[in-house]
Amino acid sequence: MIEIPGNVFPRRLDILLPMAKKAQGMFIEDENGRQYMDASGGAVVVNAGHGRKSIAKAIYDQILSHDYIHPTMFTTRPVEMLATRLAQKAPDDINRFYFFSGGSEANEAAIKLARQIHVENGNETKYRLIGRWKSYHGLTLGSLGAMGRTSFKTYFTPLLKENLHIPAPYCYRCAFGLTYPSCKLQCAMALDEMIENAGPETISAFIAETVPGATIAACFPPKEYLKAIAQICDHHNVLLILDEVMCGLGRTGEFFACNHFDVVPDIVTLGKGLAGGVMALSAFGVKETHFNVIKENSGVFMHGGTFSHHSVAAAAGLALIDILDQEKLVQRVKIKGERLGELLKKHLLPLAQVGDVRGKGFMWGIEIVKDKKTRMPFKRSLKIVEGIWESLFEKGYITYKSSGLAGVNGDALVIAPPFIIEDEQIQRLVMAIKSTMVEFFN
Ligand code: PMP
Repeated sequence: MIEIPGNVFPRRLDILLPMAKKAQGMFIEDENGRQYMDASGGAVVVNAGHGRKSIAKAIYDQILSHDYIHPTMFTTRPVEMLATRLAQKAPDDINRFYFFSGGSEANEAAIKLARQIHVENGNETKYRLIGRWKSYHGLTLGSLGAMGRTSFKTYFTPLLKENLHIPAPYCYRCAFGLTYPSCKLQCAMALDEMIENAGPETISAFIAETVPGATIAACFPPKEYLKAIAQICDHHNVLLILDEVMCGLGRTGEFFACNHFDVVPDIVTLGKGLAGGVMALSAFGVKETHFNVIKENSGVFMHGGTFSHHSVAAAAGLALIDILDQEKLVQRVKIKGERLGELLKKHLLPLAQVGDVRGKGFMWGIEIVKDKKTRMPFKRSLKIVEGIWESLFEKGYITYKSSGLAGVNGDALVIAPPFIIEDEQIQRLVMAIKSTMVEFFN
């Protein structure tokens, strides 16, 4: 084995990570020959499983055909075709797609695009952004400012723009202490009040994950929530940006998660699994009407990057969409996701420390609590979810963690497997989570 000099500034500074050697289908193997079931597809990315030959071939062929082409000098067939494929799957009127490399970048651009649309419509006073508490939108300063997960922002607060935030539709810990449906969706009504108080003439956009993923662990909102939000936005001429970086592309059983709610956002962002994790690829989609405002006024979206509209990444994205379509993987998520949810509920809800199991499709959250009756969380300093996650990893199961669900405290595991997971693997995974949690708390 080759000695590692150690010049990488790694993501984790607290441990030495195993060296990955091979990844195929549902599994990753390290250099010591240990196998791990990748039950979260990394960070909810590897939607079609590892080692897809058709994606590899598409990338190879594309590089030989033509590789990097600057997006202001040429357009390319894979980019044109990927935009068309996405437009065919997108809700009405979301017709124009712009490509980037990461989800943060797509959200950053969406925030800027919303502002530019207002300016070009003659609404120069509209510039402020409203997001939700306990949300995640990315690591760049704009997307970090938009998010409501305070612990991620603490070091950087002086660098960030002060945005406004409203409570998340998080029924297990309702910010208003209410219960759905008698709550009459106070969490949605809070947007109207926030806009009224701040002055509608100052608000540019509201940004939210269609289905919150990592931060409040796959908390699927009540069915009327997004419609109420969309109506409030519409009423105040506030643009609705839906972040589907994690929940889009079939993850919850619909290609676009907003299709669950019959809501058409002004701008939708995608990322993570867009090229199956093989290439860094993200996008925003925007309504044709907004695109036309830019086209007919300044004629340029004031945003540009060296690696936008990358033909090789787009070729990988097209190959990924072919796999989803040919293998009917989104329909598979819908069916198998119910099975995954049933098993998680059946085996985990009886545990004293599991407060809630919720989700949809292949995005499920297991919220861990100290006291089930009062829903009191464990103290963050105990790092409960990290401990459970590590034990599962040691046993060869990769999951995703979520923390800070209740103020700074709170723990949850997120289960978001590749869409190809087999029934037997689902069963094995659920039983491994159960036995690991039982051992952990005994
Ligand atoms: N939005 C959401 C909902 C996400 O989950 C993430 C990544 N976890 C991002 C944006 C940022 O994407 P990226 O890490 O690719 O920049």
